[in-house]
Amino acid sequence: MAEQTFIMIKPDGVQRGLIGEVISRFEKKGFYLKGLKLQNVEKSFAEQHYSDLSSKPFFAGLVEYIVSGPVVAMVWEGKSVVATGRKIIGATNPLASEPGTIRGDFAVDIGRNVIHGSDSVESARKEIALWFPEGIAEWRSSQHNWIYEA
Ligand code: UDP
Ligand code: MG
Repeated sequence: MAEQTFIMIKPDGVQRGLIGEVISRFEKKGFYLKGLKLQNVEKSFAEQHYSDLSSKPFFAGLVEYIVSGPVVAMVWEGKSVVATGRKIIGATNPLASEPGTIRGDFAVDIGRNVIHGSDSVESARKEIALWFPEGIAEWRSSQHNWIYEA
């Protein structure tokens, strides 16, 4: 199976009208959208998603931020999509993110950094299972051979 990653547009990205922009960047690169939903999440769900960070001082504020409005949860697929997705997103602190990245172009503060992306194939697997227990779509772009050599 091709590599998949979990990408989430955080509440600030939704409120600021960046859904189309984010989707467009991943689409134009040549990755395939395999799952997509807009939803509000419960506090306990946000805590589970960020459970690895539960001991951090910013954890409570992070959870509050994630539940503050709807988020867009997505699964994207393609060659090296986890690491490349992180590059498209940019560094965690938007002031350290390169221009041309999503956070570099659209964010200032670390606690309002617009988007989440899985940090490894293993985290992606866990996050996709958490956010899409119902499963994701099966499809292949008719342009596949114009993007991928094989
Ligand atoms: N975060 C924060 N303050 C910090 C570090 C992180 O508010 O000092 C938030 C920020 O929204 C970040 C999220 O916690 O995106 C998860 O942190 P992580 O280190 O996993 O960064 P990411 O993988 O999102 O780049
Ligand atoms: Mg992370």
